[in-house]
Amino acid sequence: MHTPDVSADAALRDAILYFDYAHSHEFMVHVRWPDGKVKCPACGGERVTYLAKNKVWKCYAKHPKARFSLKTGTIFEDSPLSLEKWLPAVWIFLNAKEGISSGELHRALGMTQKTAWFMLHRIRLALRNTSFDKLLEAHAPPMNAGPFENTPEFRRFCAGMKRLLEVSKRDLGRRIQEAKLNSDRIDNPKAPGRKRQVR
Ligand SMILES: [Zn+2]
Repeated sequence: MHTPDVSADAALRDAILYFDYAHSHEFMVHVRWPDGKVKCPACGGERVTYLAKNKVWKCYAKHPKARFSLKTGTIFEDSPLSLEKWLPAVWIFLNAKEGISSGELHRALGMTQKTAWFMLHRIRLALRNTSFDKLLEAHAPPMNAGPFENTPEFRRFCAGMKRLLEVSKRDLGRRIQEAKLNSDRIDNPKAPGRKRQVR
């Protein structure tokens, strides 16, 4: 019989409470720009200013897409879901010892099951082939570490997020396309193989 893991539930509740707007924002700035200097994802420039009203930065260099948010360029960019949903979802994904289903994520975070599936699909594809044990050895706690940031779960989360943010929006798009083609082939064995890409 399956016995619920009470301490895991408590850790999950702490994580969901932790990732409010302020902590999500602070964490993303820290993990994207560890030296604390926010840089424009389009040109790398540091001449940027934060527009608090719109929660975006503006780059002063002259180029298209001069405004950017914490999600710009990441696998989260194309989704209307806030980081306050994405970050606990990644946390759960990395720390659920038995794995996590879209039904469980939907109940934990209060979104529809379809949305939970969408999130897990993307997180899984972004983190495929990732070995966390090696990452954890090298990782020091971030920010002004309080009790929650000093847990092994949080350190695992930091290491996983660092990896996840190395995957660009474009890389993820390619992986989603590949996954779709593979599942089409499994559903229909007679379907032709993937066309060679023209470079
Ligand atoms: Zn720029």
